[in-house]
Amino acid sequence: MTKLRIYNSIAREKQEFEPINPPLVGLYVCGPTVYGDAHLGHARPAVTFDVVFRYLRHLGYKVRYVRNITDVGHLENDAEVGEDKIAKKARIEQLEPMEVVQHYTLGYHRNMAALRCRPPSVEPRASGHIIEQIDMVQKILDNGLAYEVDGSVYFDVMKYAETNHYGKLSGRVLEDLQSETRKLAGQDVKKNSADFALWKKAEPEHIMRWPSPWSDGFPGWHLECSVMSTKYLGDTFDIHGGGMDLLFPHHECEIAQSKGAYNQESVKYWMHNNMITINGQKMGKSLGNFITLDEFFSGNHDSLERAYSPMTIRFFMLQAHYRSTLDFSNEALQAAEKGHQRLMNALKTLDQLEFKGSDAAFDPEKNQAVQDLCAACHEHLNDDFNTALVLADLFELATNVNSWKNGVTEITSIAEETFELVKKTMTEFITEIFGLTDEQTDGDNGALDGVMQLIIDIRAEARANKDWGTSDKIRDDLKALKIQIKDEKDGGASWSVK
Ligand code: ZN
Repeated sequence: MTKLRIYNSIAREKQEFEPINPPLVGLYVCGPTVYGDAHLGHARPAVTFDVVFRYLRHLGYKVRYVRNITDVGHLENDAEVGEDKIAKKARIEQLEPMEVVQHYTLGYHRNMAALRCRPPSVEPRASGHIIEQIDMVQKILDNGLAYEVDGSVYFDVMKYAETNHYGKLSGRVLEDLQSETRKLAGQDVKKNSADFALWKKAEPEHIMRWPSPWSDGFPGWHLECSVMSTKYLGDTFDIHGGGMDLLFPHHECEIAQSKGAYNQESVKYWMHNNMITINGQKMGKSLGNFITLDEFFSGNHDSLERAYSPMTIRFFMLQAHYRSTLDFSNEALQAAEKGHQRLMNALKTLDQLEFKGSDAAFDPEKNQAVQDLCAACHEHLNDDFNTALVLADLFELATNVNSWKNGVTEITSIAEETFELVKKTMTEFITEIFGLTDEQTDGDNGALDGVMQLIIDIRAEARANKDWGTSDKIRDDLKALKIQIKDEKDGGASWSVK
């Protein structure tokens, strides 16, 4: 069988996946800035890297998956000036910034659980890592690659570019960047328009502020990911993921900062998912085609013909390779709904089918073709996580399953081992790796799944705290409701209704 190959955005080619410290794999994904409801654009990286997480675990790796919550430092329009996105929301709604953060973080978790995205192993917040960020700024200053102006600290891109290639990830050329960048208010204090903030002095009205050697202020947005990825995954780690919109400036700046502080690059494989368009148009608040996940789940939006379940959204994402753009339309989602149901029905049929019939029906060619389809599922996922091709393989398998059920083809045209292989392959890929479930039998629109994941998380937390009373109570009370929690070998847990 072929090995897993990943398209590395920095090498611009597919490379065989060789973890730095097997069996451990470090995976860092840029999480949301929590100042609004999660939308379709949040679902794509979440589902993409959930499949990466699930598949690496399936391959036997022990994956430490870190996804951050940005709760400070992300200024409007990703620019160097302007108001902090969270502080602005707090000001408008007359809330504490941390109330805004808590509200939208809970909403994000609820949406992700409904989409059956497994929670990350660590979910650090930028505001909880101010000390480490100050420390990194100091390291970069000590290495002569940053400078202070009036309480703010900027990364010296020109100095860095003397010995490093700034733009190696995004392909941007420094000279073009300098001429492109418009002169914005506040930029004149920088030596060069391409320089970016590591630390910003807070204006008097700015409420999110911390003391530092340079001023009362707050960290630049790019800094948190450099700091939190290396804190939890080590100075060099395997995979850094995020949306393609983060390639520049966010990830380009991360590379420069890590090199500037530690004199080595932190990331071995950079992975970027492509964007979602709506009826061919970019999605954005200003364009008025911005649909939140809750609106999809309820159908409560003018652009939606009806509600679409979390599993329909998840299936829709898997139908495209993560590096392709994905265009939303009502027709596409309705097709995804049908496709999802077709696979669920095939799994049900497979469960009910009995392997019996005449030995004479055995057809070596047919048998080989079915075995090849099972192998193709692995080959295609190993080819840079091509979920689109795997779904095509699974549909072909489903066609075979239906023909066995309808008696169009005798099931004994294949060997019993092949039949068992089909069962194993379809179950593994559909439920374990793709994380799909049948909402018609497994709960109302995935809500039950979300609730169960929440209960499983609370129980895991209780166990980690050696709070056996709570952990036993959860297990026993669920048992009384005929819900059984099963602890898995990898430390996770699954549930089923008995
Ligand atoms: Zn990030």
